[in-house]
Amino acid sequence: MGRGAETGGRLNRWSWVETDLGAIRHNVRELRSRLSDGALLMCAVKADAYGHGAVPCAKAMLEAGADQLAVATVDEGVELRDAGIDAPVLMLNECPPEAVGDLLSHSVMPSIYTEGFAKAYAAEARRRGLVGRYHLAVDTGMTRIGVMPQDAVGFRRMLDSLGGLSCEGTFTHFSTADEPGSGYFGLQAARFSATLLALHEAGLGHGLAHCDNTPGLVLHPEMHLGMCRAGISLYGLHPADSTKGAIALMPAMSVRARVTRVATPGEGACVGYGAAWGCPAGVSVATVPIGYADGLHRALSGRMDVIVNGVRVPQVGRICMDQFMVAIDPRRWPSWAGPVEIGDVVTILGRDGDEEVSADDLAEASGTINYEVTCAFGMMRLGKVFR
Ligand SMILES: *Cc1c(COP(=O)(O)O)cnc(C)c1O
Repeated sequence: MGRGAETGGRLNRWSWVETDLGAIRHNVRELRSRLSDGALLMCAVKADAYGHGAVPCAKAMLEAGADQLAVATVDEGVELRDAGIDAPVLMLNECPPEAVGDLLSHSVMPSIYTEGFAKAYAAEARRRGLVGRYHLAVDTGMTRIGVMPQDAVGFRRMLDSLGGLSCEGTFTHFSTADEPGSGYFGLQAARFSATLLALHEAGLGHGLAHCDNTPGLVLHPEMHLGMCRAGISLYGLHPADSTKGAIALMPAMSVRARVTRVATPGEGACVGYGAAWGCPAGVSVATVPIGYADGLHRALSGRMDVIVNGVRVPQVGRICMDQFMVAIDPRRWPSWAGPVEIGDVVTILGRDGDEEVSADDLAEASGTINYEVTCAFGMMRLGKVFR
């Protein structure tokens, strides 16, 4: 990828995130093709679609056959509505009671699991003459949100007695869906099935039942029920090694920048804060304008490669707030590759020619998971380009 490559996005900064919407559509179709008969697909576009850009991604997902969308905050739901998206949107938790008006005016369904929130939401729905649609969250063992299984029937009776509410779904979330043969998964699945049965026997409609996330969708089709909630797989990444052989996904995010300077400082020169890397004689140092304030974790200092002109080169010295440096060693530079010059495109995440740096590579080198890698690049200051 040379100097002629498309930059797009913010022209006032030589660094950007690229989202491949064709890859997103491919992943949605791949997931859809695995759903059990009649099961719907809910796409998690929280955290700006895991950093990929919520509105363009949501539109691509709906085009490719997604049924519903999931967000984490009121503002994320409002952003989708303001962009003209009218598919059902579920907020995967409660929000401050002061924000229930925004939910109702934008038709974003909350999850419900506390009495205080339920009363605020129901009262505002009645005041506006609207039906407050919601999904009931059940805590089967994640110990994060939800009513306890034994409390579900009583809680639902209380909700129904408030008036103004309509239960559109009942869901739980697994902690170990990615671990084949997990006994804890079995326990959660059994508790959820028992809760659905208890609601049914009490004459309370549970609406759409859903529990599988990406690893659940791929590895536990017996729990597809009415709907699956996919997240990381939509973006072409695997939640764990256990799903890798089972589904063919296409990564959607690349992170690129352009070289802003090339120097050959000579023997004795050191690179970056703390003068932590000594530059050997004859080696050139190129500067790349992305740093930890852009989501490139400082813990990756000295532990990552980038691709420039199709060649993998090591990052050297400490990653700065907005920039980092790479070493270009002429003794290891292939004869087919052009010299590195100002303006050349650097790939920090993604593919260039035959080389690739994956979100899993960066996650492993910085001691985290691929989810956090894409969220970090996407939530910070980089402009986004959609292809
Ligand atoms: C984020 C989220 C998902 C999606 O999980 P992935 O592992 O990314 O597929 C599903 N359900 C809930 C409740 C979530 O918070």
